[in-house]
Amino acid sequence: MEEAVTKPTKKGGARLCCICNQSRAALKRPKTLEQICKECFYEVFEEEIHQVIVDNQLFKPGERIAIGASGGKDSTVLACVLSELNRRHNYGLDLFLLSVDEGITGYRDDSLETVKRNEVQYGLPLKIVSYKDLYGWTMDEIVKMIGLKNNCTFCGVFRRQALDRGASLLKVDKVATGHNADDIAETVLLNILRGDIARLSRCTSIVTGEDGPIPRCKPFKYTYEKEIVIYPCSLKCSVVIEKFTYAYFKRLDYFSTECIYSPNAYRGFAREFIKDLERIRPRAILDIIKSGENFRISTSTKMPEQGTCQRCGYISSQKWCKACVLLEGLNRGLPKLGIGRSRGLNNDNKKEKDVTQSNGAKSIESKQCGTLDF
Ligand code: SF4
Repeated sequence: MEEAVTKPTKKGGARLCCICNQSRAALKRPKTLEQICKECFYEVFEEEIHQVIVDNQLFKPGERIAIGASGGKDSTVLACVLSELNRRHNYGLDLFLLSVDEGITGYRDDSLETVKRNEVQYGLPLKIVSYKDLYGWTMDEIVKMIGLKNNCTFCGVFRRQALDRGASLLKVDKVATGHNADDIAETVLLNILRGDIARLSRCTSIVTGEDGPIPRCKPFKYTYEKEIVIYPCSLKCSVVIEKFTYAYFKRLDYFSTECIYSPNAYRGFAREFIKDLERIRPRAILDIIKSGENFRISTSTKMPEQGTCQRCGYISSQKWCKACVLLEGLNRGLPKLGIGRSRGLNNDNKKEKDVTQSNGAKSIESKQCGTLDF
């Protein structure tokens, strides 16, 4: 894709948009290296996402869709673009914002204020579910007990379930999340590095959880982070006049502070590695996703069997789901109970020996997190 870049025309010293050939080019698209104007950027950015939605049949007319909203850039842009496309292309969707309040003072309370403003700006009803209500613990209280090691394990496991519980309260058909192409490429890499075959096989799927309570979809699967968010210019392109992102151009209201408990060095290294690759070869991100899609699991590999948690009824491949195991540990003052590979409370179930961590403590399927997007 990057090899066939159309050369922009010059007019009075300024480069012209290579799509309309009328307006001054305002950015170089990270994905295609085309130099284009702001209006053409909106157009191609939104229409590419529309095409992904149509090609993958992500939505059906009349469906109720919850947008996982953290107040961060990805989910804010997702709310903005989906509202716009729903109107423009008559998708016939009922859209909602769904947020999870982990109880992190100075971070989530502030970002939820952004989501509340988004509720008014886009006219989308908002539902907030909190860890305190669902589990009896806030992340502040959990960190007080366990410290800053493994906190994201608790948070990631609880969030996944909280999102499902919120979605079922809203009676939605699907949850759309703001995972972008960079997130998915990182996750492919992390799953390879961790040898997590079960997650590797599904992390590139644009729709997941079809066998669970409520499926999730990723309309930004092929959307580059650089086009979504303000990102320091690393392209050294000659025509960057302004910050070149959708969120910036559209003056969207989003929250960009990192979680105060974010330690995620491992994911951070993977992220940096991918950014380095992207600098050399912009389509490296798409190539990694493609590689992930092409992995095939040998039919002799034993995969975990899905069942339901004997305690709360949530989907689980073990006797108790991970959230119940972690919660039991917290409530008994033994927070390490569900951490690591020890089977602890699920001891009598030996089903999963062949596939490591498929219900393991360290979920890396969620973004975990920085600017959280489930
Ligand atoms: Fe939770 Fe993300 Fe903060 Fe970790 S970084 S504690 S997963 S919000």
